Amino acid sequence: MTTTSEQWTIGSILTWTGQYFREKGISNPRLDAEVLLSHILGKSRLHLYVNFDQPLEARELAAFREVVKKRAQRVPVAYITGYKEFMGLDFIVNPHVLIPRPDTEILAEYAASRLAQTVNPCIADIGTGSGAILISLLHKLAAAAGIAVDISGDALKVAQQNAVRHGVESRLQCKQGDLFAPLDGQTFDAVVANPPYIVAAEVDNLEPEVRCEPHLALSGGKDGLDFYRRIIKDGAACLKPQGFMALEVGMGQARPVADLAAQSPRLRMTEILKDYGGIERVVILALSE
Ligand code: GLN
Repeated sequence: MTTTSEQWTIGSILTWTGQYFREKGISNPRLDAEVLLSHILGKSRLHLYVNFDQPLEARELAAFREVVKKRAQRVPVAYITGYKEFMGLDFIVNPHVLIPRPDTEILAEYAASRLAQTVNPCIADIGTGSGAILISLLHKLAAAAGIAVDISGDALKVAQQNAVRHGVESRLQCKQGDLFAPLDGQTFDAVVANPPYIVAAEVDNLEPEVRCEPHLALSGGKDGLDFYRRIIKDGAACLKPQGFMALEVGMGQARPVADLAAQSPRLRMTEILKDYGGIERVVILALSE
């Protein structure tokens, strides 16, 4: 990318960048190149394809060069563009929040379809981060309301921006605090959570992109299960009689989490949902009869 701007077209810069990203060990090099160029040009990826031969202006090239440099340093695409799509909505993200993952949509879809049967459902999202789970639920369910809890004030700022962006701010309260502490004994039809679940000692071995995400949102203590222990201990008190809890878990954690529930006096596991890769990803709990 040291040649003059006249020489670079959309097509040639994508080829060059895709190759460069591949050499840097990036998993979806071509896709990332396209997403970043769309972002810089303010156009869709389709626009790139139908304008392959269009030359880039010098200022476009300069801006693109900056983002390519960042991506080559393994900064996640979503932190560069500032957005990540989840449940068909664009969420604002920054390094204070975990980037929503497609697998978490399994949890959101399940909660949405179950709560569709409930009149005026009330939902708590524990460790909300960007707010992606709760906000997508409020967006789908016009009569729902909820509380988004996070220990990080910086994360809650992002959740609040996303609530406004998706027009659900009048039905969402953001509360800062540790797990259930800010809920003042209220009860909910659903408690949803994607808590930190990575084994603490493994956080440093994660992909460089994941290591850009907040440690606070990743590390689940010595065995990765610390937050499930606490959620299972204190969460039953926050459920309405017919309410449910939907917890995302890491690979191999569904059964241990179900066991923790089985050992608790007030909760039981009712279902385990698999993700797109066939991995047990979401544990559903209900109050014991
Ligand atoms: N899904 C994330 C990852 O494996 C972890 C998120 C979490 O700890 N809840 O990269």
